[in-house]
Amino acid sequence: MFSRGYRGTTAKPSLLGFGCMRLPRVSEESQEIDFEKAERLIDEAYAAGVNYYDTAYVYHDGKSEGFLKRALAKYPRESYFLADKMPSWHLKMPGDVERIFEEQLKRCGVDYFDFYLCHSITAKSLETFEKFDVFTYLEHQKEKGRIRRLGFSFHDTPEVLEKVLSLRDWDFAQIQLNYIDWLAQDAKGQYTLLQNAGIPVVVMEPVRGGALATLCPEAAACFKQAEPDRSLASWALRFAGSLPGVMTVLSGMNTLEQVRENTALFTAFTPLSDEEQKTLEKAAELYKAHLTIPCTGCRYCMDCPSGVEIPKMFALYNDYTLSQREGVYLKAYEALPETQRAASCVQCGRCAERCPQHIQIPEKMQEIKACIEKLQAD
Ligand code: SF4
Ligand code: SF4
Repeated sequence: MFSRGYRGTTAKPSLLGFGCMRLPRVSEESQEIDFEKAERLIDEAYAAGVNYYDTAYVYHDGKSEGFLKRALAKYPRESYFLADKMPSWHLKMPGDVERIFEEQLKRCGVDYFDFYLCHSITAKSLETFEKFDVFTYLEHQKEKGRIRRLGFSFHDTPEVLEKVLSLRDWDFAQIQLNYIDWLAQDAKGQYTLLQNAGIPVVVMEPVRGGALATLCPEAAACFKQAEPDRSLASWALRFAGSLPGVMTVLSGMNTLEQVRENTALFTAFTPLSDEEQKTLEKAAELYKAHLTIPCTGCRYCMDCPSGVEIPKMFALYNDYTLSQREGVYLKAYEALPETQRAASCVQCGRCAERCPQHIQIPEKMQEIKACIEKLQAD
């Protein structure tokens, strides 16, 4: 497995990392992980050389960490890197930081994390991290050897990133980077700041929550014409993996097919050529003309007190705006229980403040509701 290594150590995280946020589930409606199916993915990835596993306190409603404990138990602890994260939105009172950190070690069945992140730093969440003195606590854990490298994942502007970088000497940073967000969310600006600071980059959402694996027909045709045998997802992964300073590209793999395709891609990794880069830029322009709601399906906005299935609403709507298949959209929407539909949104706004993509969720729910009503009337 191609790996670039980590500054100052001989350890080498693999360039392809396994993101454990979208593992196979027992059913569509549940966040319960299908252990056997998910374990098989981990085993195949491990055998192919993937040694970086990324989890979080909140993934799969808190079950991702425990899953990894069981799935990785058969492998020597020093043979893989485990990354976990502290969620600011679960910090309500002094003592929560320690409680969550200790719980995470227990859930994962380890006595140290190789990589530990302050989860989803934004200007707003930074206030919470500072209020609860999280950085000092985590520094302390690092001194005790319970954290090997301390970093953060980030969802805000380069200006906010500059501020975060000035706070301490971070060991790594995780940013949302893909060929659409390169300019659309100024991933380029964030990446450049990290490069200039010499901080290794972990890439999240390289395929933008799966959206760049399907694209719109025009952009897909552009890629297929250039290289018929390459999958659309492989272009997105190669874009992220080609950038110097990128330590690991996280992929939230949830089928064996994806694991096999991605590990093959990264085992014989070839950076994008200049010609391929031009093809990618052309396809990106075509896709941007269709861009709808930049939801990545992370589920940080959940649960909605009214029961609205927010990411599902956005996935269906995005699929419709790309395909324009009205009948398919209506059928899928109406097949959902009423509480899960956009029409059940009471505009409380609780979800929007948690969305790392800064989507105005209540407004979008109203738009979706109006769109559905129009389609139903036609
Ligand atoms: S604004 Fe709507 S979708 Fe968001 S939490 Fe409130 S009811 Fe749910
Ligand atoms: S709406 Fe925002 S928080 Fe919710 S799943 Fe989509 S990107 Fe994540």
